Amino acid sequence: MFTVKRRLKGKAFQREFIKMKPIIAERDNHCCRVCGDRAQDIHHIIFRSQGGTNDADNLICLCRRCHEAAHGVDAKKIAKELQEILNE
Ligand SMILES: [Zn+2]
Ligand SMILES: [Zn+2]
Repeated sequence: MFTVKRRLKGKAFQREFIKMKPIIAERDNHCCRVCGDRAQDIHHIIFRSQGGTNDADNLICLCRRCHEAAHGVDAKKIAKELQEILNE
């Protein structure tokens, strides 16, 4: 299926993200979806810099540790795993 996702820039993107945060936190029970610890961050699975959106299927609750890992050297591998977690 061909879909065109809305691409927002700068402040509009940030405003939309802020609006999504409580929705995602609620969905994930305020817990890190990787390890189950209390979530501290909401992560863009596909980074914003790579065209990631604020859609629910691109956002996931993570604790600080898992969030740092998601931006670390294994970022690509972890992104795949996060997408699988959301698809479960
Ligand atoms: Zn975690
Ligand atoms: Zn992140």
